[in-house]
Amino acid sequence: MNKFDILKKYFGYSQFREGQETLIDAVLSGRDALGIMPTGAGKSLCYQVPALLLPGITIVISPLISLMKDQVQTLNQAGIHAAYINSSLTENQIAKALQLAAKGTYKIIYAAPERLETYVFLEFAKQAEISMLTVDEAHCISQWGQDFRPSYLKIVRFLQQLERRPIVSAFTATATEHVREDIVCVLGLRQPELLITGFDRGNLYFAVETPKQKDRFVLDYIKAHPAESGIIYCSTRKNVDALFEKMQDLAIPSAKYHAGMGQEERRQSQEDFVYDRCPVMTATNAFGMGIDKSNVRYVIHYNMPQSLENYYQEAGRAGRDGETAECILLYSPQDVMINQFLLESKEQNPEFTEEELAAIREKDTERLRIMNYYCLSANCLRAYILNYFGEQSRGDCQNCGNCRKEFEETDVTAQAEKIISCVREMRGRYGINVAAGTLAGADRAKLREYGMTSYSSYGSLAELGEQRIKQIINQMLMEGYLTVTPDKYALLRLTGKSDEIAQGMGKVVVREVKGGLSSLPEKPASSVSRRKSDILNSRGLELFERLRSLRSEIARREGMPPYII
Ligand code: ADP
Ligand code: MG
Repeated sequence: MNKFDILKKYFGYSQFREGQETLIDAVLSGRDALGIMPTGAGKSLCYQVPALLLPGITIVISPLISLMKDQVQTLNQAGIHAAYINSSLTENQIAKALQLAAKGTYKIIYAAPERLETYVFLEFAKQAEISMLTVDEAHCISQWGQDFRPSYLKIVRFLQQLERRPIVSAFTATATEHVREDIVCVLGLRQPELLITGFDRGNLYFAVETPKQKDRFVLDYIKAHPAESGIIYCSTRKNVDALFEKMQDLAIPSAKYHAGMGQEERRQSQEDFVYDRCPVMTATNAFGMGIDKSNVRYVIHYNMPQSLENYYQEAGRAGRDGETAECILLYSPQDVMINQFLLESKEQNPEFTEEELAAIREKDTERLRIMNYYCLSANCLRAYILNYFGEQSRGDCQNCGNCRKEFEETDVTAQAEKIISCVREMRGRYGINVAAGTLAGADRAKLREYGMTSYSSYGSLAELGEQRIKQIINQMLMEGYLTVTPDKYALLRLTGKSDEIAQGMGKVVVREVKGGLSSLPEKPASSVSRRKSDILNSRGLELFERLRSLRSEIARREGMPPYII
């Protein structure tokens, strides 16, 4: 039998998809391989087909018990001898499975990385003929991956203990360069066939919205898309429960899913959704891995996720059938803080040293910052995503919220120069509120008290109003013409780039939606709600800037090895 016979006989397909053959051929010729393909591309087949053609056993490392179970079940149904070894089995069951495996009963054995260290498994592996070791969801080996698992590092030790090194293949949907390098490096892949297939999902429409009432937005959206299947992702269980309740009240047939629910309840929920009994699923990010539902027409993120990797993976569950689908992110500055809190309270592996933990936290923070930029961006959203994943893009997709909006661009370089003079004059002692107030020539007791009214910058941008000045400062912070101190005071500081403005080498442009909110004349900041939102925005900004200044620190640290084996 050759690879085509296998494809037809066991999987029922007559053609390989993009990239599959290249990887299969490489492995069959004895080479290591790294396949980076988006979710749903068909990575499993890339190791399952060669596993059946190689003489010995293929061990597949997989992070989730449920994934292993599903895959083994599917393989068994197709008549392929496969088994899994993980903590859902008793010691007796494991011993029995390994006994059978040693006799050559199985061609494919799925194992959790923790298993590799155990005596029984190692004994088995030393005696058996292992043709290939495959690492699925290989980004878990990298601290740059969105869900780093220290236990994935055990794979390296395991490989070293085998007398004959098998072919090593690895697969992931995370394509950032950091992760890619970590996989090759940490796993010790030997001149691997590296295959990266296109990450663009042209049928998906991306948008970021900032509705005043997110609930309203979601419920209206669902009403406007009756009988369509969709997922609403929230960052907390509380949000899931609350939104689910509202849908119940409105008799929207919906299901919910989060880790606080019982196993049976979750299974039922998932099934209701997959079989279209409930077309709408409201869930935390606990939902979705390994779910193969092709007709999801929209994915709405009620909160901003923690990273662009997470976002693209979750949003990417829409439109798996290739038909058009929408991915909408509902942004509010509080999301940044909620996420920062979630990151800080995330349970960390006790094996880590303080220094390693600090490095992980910084990387998390950096990813959050990049996610936040996505939400604030006024440019092509698809290009933003693709560039992040290392792919070139023209930046003009015509199928995202930003490409469809009409923007007005205003050159504010002259104003930026005055802002820089003001920050210089303040000698790093004040934050954005004092600076904007001073430039606007506001008559506040505080400003008089600080002596701001005697500054030469006082009132130098009086024609703009404080909001507009803040908007320009914000833009300058995003582009690195200014920065803030990484503490709760967020004091404005000049950067190495600040001088470029005065030297005529830099340009600051504010981009805003035509006829959008920000181009309306400024209302007096008198109403309570207005003030509330101001506070939120400046707090969001403060945090956001703290994240930004961590960046250089992270770059500095990158010089040191990110992992210790
Ligand atoms: P990934 O791991 O890349 O997210 P999977 O391996 O789970 O994706 O495959 C996704 C779906 O694509 C599965 O339903 C699988 O059967 C299907 N598939 C894989 N390869 C092919 C192929 N050559 N032809 C048709 N369908 C395929
Ligand atoms: Mg997979």
